[in-house]
Amino acid sequence: MADCIFCKIIKGEIPGKFIYRDDQLVSFYDINPKAPIHVLIVPVKHLHSLQEIKPFDKELLGSLLLKVNVIAKKLGIAKDGYKVVINNGQVSGQLVFHLHMHLLGGWKEGAHWQV
Ligand code: AMP
Ligand code: ZN
Repeated sequence: MADCIFCKIIKGEIPGKFIYRDDQLVSFYDINPKAPIHVLIVPVKHLHSLQEIKPFDKELLGSLLLKVNVIAKKLGIAKDGYKVVINNGQVSGQLVFHLHMHLLGGWKEGAHWQV
């Protein structure tokens, strides 16, 4: 999508600090971290939010979830634990309308917030 910031990061049109990438998904550091370690896991395919997914996206969504523990391990937060958050729609706080998961961790004494 031409005016989507995450599509631009994926295409290399604006910079991103990548931790992982393959044909289906990318992961890069959030520019405004809400935890000591905060990365985004983003499908290459532009999907607006969970509200837009279709049954044929099943494999892609499975790949996204299956990559969480790989990326958490790479970040060194797998053992202590982490949160995964997906905002959907305006009132949830979704700011970028390209589906993504937040992977948050790195707290020393536990997260400061609970869902
Ligand atoms: P959400 O509120 O769930 O849509 O999350 C969007 C996230 O993207 C926010 O946490 C932003 O800090 C982050 N973000 C926005 N622009 C950039 C960027 N250029 N590079 C990395 N993260 C970004
Ligand atoms: Zn996009």
